[in-house]
Amino acid sequence: MVVIKSIASRDVRTPTSLDKTGSDGMNLSPDYSAAFCIITTDSEYTGHGMTFTIGRGNELVCGAIDLLAPLVVGKPLDELTADWGKTWRYLTSDSQLRWIGPDKGVIHLALGALVNALWDLWAKTLGKPVWKVVADMTPEEVVKCLDFRYITDALTPEEAVALLTEARAGREDRLAEALRNEAVPAYTTSAGWLGYGEDKMRSLLKQTVAEGYRYFKLKVGTDLEEDRKRLTIAREVLGYDKGNTLMVDANQVWSVPEAIAHMQALAEFKPWFIEEPTSPDDILGHAAIRKGLAYTAHGPIAVATGEMCQNRIVFKQLLQAGAIDVLQIDACRVGGVNEVLTILLLAKKFNVPVVPHSGGIGLPEYTQHLSTIDYIVVSGRKSVLEYVDHLHEHFVHPSRVENGHYVTPLEAGYSVEMIPESMDHFTYPGEKGKSWWQTEEAKEVLSAPRVRPL
Ligand SMILES: [Mg+2]
Repeated sequence: MVVIKSIASRDVRTPTSLDKTGSDGMNLSPDYSAAFCIITTDSEYTGHGMTFTIGRGNELVCGAIDLLAPLVVGKPLDELTADWGKTWRYLTSDSQLRWIGPDKGVIHLALGALVNALWDLWAKTLGKPVWKVVADMTPEEVVKCLDFRYITDALTPEEAVALLTEARAGREDRLAEALRNEAVPAYTTSAGWLGYGEDKMRSLLKQTVAEGYRYFKLKVGTDLEEDRKRLTIAREVLGYDKGNTLMVDANQVWSVPEAIAHMQALAEFKPWFIEEPTSPDDILGHAAIRKGLAYTAHGPIAVATGEMCQNRIVFKQLLQAGAIDVLQIDACRVGGVNEVLTILLLAKKFNVPVVPHSGGIGLPEYTQHLSTIDYIVVSGRKSVLEYVDHLHEHFVHPSRVENGHYVTPLEAGYSVEMIPESMDHFTYPGEKGKSWWQTEEAKEVLSAPRVRPL
């Protein structure tokens, strides 16, 4: 029996604002960060979970992880995993903390880190990667992991069991594909950050084409002429008939009418989808944009969102309203593996493909498991998964892409454990002599303007 001894949060930040990696229409100078939740036990096993943020907000999430910790410290792991759905409800039921959610914001980001750390720990004790833990479950066992509160008008436990049972056809073939590293095709955003110059963008696009990628995403959403220039360059490299797919991402900068007008004006570049055209909370707005882009002179443009959708309830409504063509789940903005599984099932019910959000430190490490689960266990349909080629060297078991596909992770756990030296190097504020944030170079980042001037 493994008993949870302690839980510690760690504030880890990498200074990506120095070279504008991660920059987009909304986020000018992100520092890719991770609020870690590290579980120690009375055994050799530890659990590592994290939530992705882009800098200062990390401090709040770490504080919230510390506040959730007493709910599990001292408990045997078996007691928590025996009825996971019940445990998930328990972890969201400290009403004084629920008040500052519910199921959203800082407290939910912290829950994601804690729940994922528990899955990491559990998977390690079972000697399996997280995707395999789920792939080895019966439909009933998967459904037992879920909390159906607020979603039974769209999906009941009985329907979920039926969907999972139906998806078992062809499962062995899909499992074999996963073991050949052919289950999860990757797409790349590496060339597409808004702060990158034209030459850097062009050479990165050429490089990623040569590496075997066929799906490419670019940031848009500042100035229309600027966007046209960048998409022209992209299409010069990618062509229109070479089997390359282009996607664009506006990171919520537009109102609904602006989104429709701006994308109608970019339709000639034939993007597959526009990601986050407006506020992630605007369900009816997304439905209106989808309608407004169903017909353009160059064919329809699909609508995608999800990286900042707070929970299964918002996803349910996006699906019920017919507001999205592509669902972009995030591994840790919602409450960890359990809520992700619920949302994968909702997407399956509404026949909408899942393309997880992975543009951030640690996210590809997580989402490689989720896309593998979606393919083998839930949808049975191949999708694509974002891969950004930054910061993987800091992980003990980094995610990898070969021949345009994710290499299926085989190590036990959920893959976000960082190398201890990297963790010390990027801990904020950290110790002098150990942390980058205590160096002279860090002063430039720490004193940079926080917002555009008034
Ligand atoms: Mg995005």
